[in-house]
Amino acid sequence: MATKDEFDSLRAEMVEKQLIQRGIHNPRVLDVMRRVPRHEFVTTELRHLAYRDCPLPIGDNQTISQPYIVALMTELVNLSGHERVLEVGTGSGYQAAVLCELAAQVYTLERFPRLAERAGRVLAELGYTNVEVHVGDGSQGLPDMGPYDAILVTAAAPALPGPLRSQLTERGGRMVLPVGDDRRQYLEVVTRMGNRWEIEQTIPVRFVPLVGRYGFMPRTGIVPDDTV
Ligand code: SAH
Repeated sequence: MATKDEFDSLRAEMVEKQLIQRGIHNPRVLDVMRRVPRHEFVTTELRHLAYRDCPLPIGDNQTISQPYIVALMTELVNLSGHERVLEVGTGSGYQAAVLCELAAQVYTLERFPRLAERAGRVLAELGYTNVEVHVGDGSQGLPDMGPYDAILVTAAAPALPGPLRSQLTERGGRMVLPVGDDRRQYLEVVTRMGNRWEIEQTIPVRFVPLVGRYGFMPRTGIVPDDTV
C-alpha cells in the first residue's frame, strides 16, 4: 500500500498532466484538486488506481468520475466561496468534498442508500462539516433547502430537469450537467437570469444515467463501460 507521500506525489502529477496540460487553469480549483485525497473515496483494492486518468467503479454499478471531469465541472460552475450548492449524484462523495472546499454549504443527493451512507462517512472522517448527504431522487432536486447558487449534476439527464432549473437562484444561478442519450452527452452550463435560462454546450462526455422522475427510467439507461 502506498504511503501518504506517495499519494501526494501521484496527486501532484495528476494535477500537472491531467488537468493543467488539458487547460484547467482556475487556481482555486487546482489547489483543491492538489489537496483532496481522492484515494480515500475508493475501496482499498482500487486505491493504487485512484489518481489514474479514468473513472473507477464504486459499487452499485456506479463510478467515481475521472479527475479531469471533476475539475472541469468544478471550474465551469465557477464558485467564489459563499455559495449554497446542490450536487445530484453523490456516488463516492469525492466531487462533494471538492465542492465543500470551494463553497459555503453543500447538499448532495444520492439514490442508492449504501453509497450515500459510505460517502457521508468518508466526508465526516475527513472533517467536512459543511455538507449534508441526502437519499432520494435528485432529478427532483431538494426544494426544501433551495434555492441554490449552483447545481452540479454528475449523472446524465435526457433533458434539463425542470425542478432543478427552478431551484437555481434567480440572479445568476448556475448549473453544470451532462445532457444527452445513453451513448453520448454534452456537458451543459445553464445560467439563470430571472425567468430566462441561458444554455451553453461544452464538450462531449459519458456519464452513468440520472435515473428518476425527470431522468431516465430505471434499467433503460446505460451501464458504464468497464474502465478498469
Ligand atoms: N459525483 C460522484 C460520481 C457519481 S456517479 C463522485 O464524485 O463519486 C453518478 C451517481 O449518480 C451515482 O452514484 C448514481 O447512483 C447517482 N444517481 C443517478 N440517478 C440519480 C438520481 N435520480 N438521484 C440521485 N442520485 C442519482
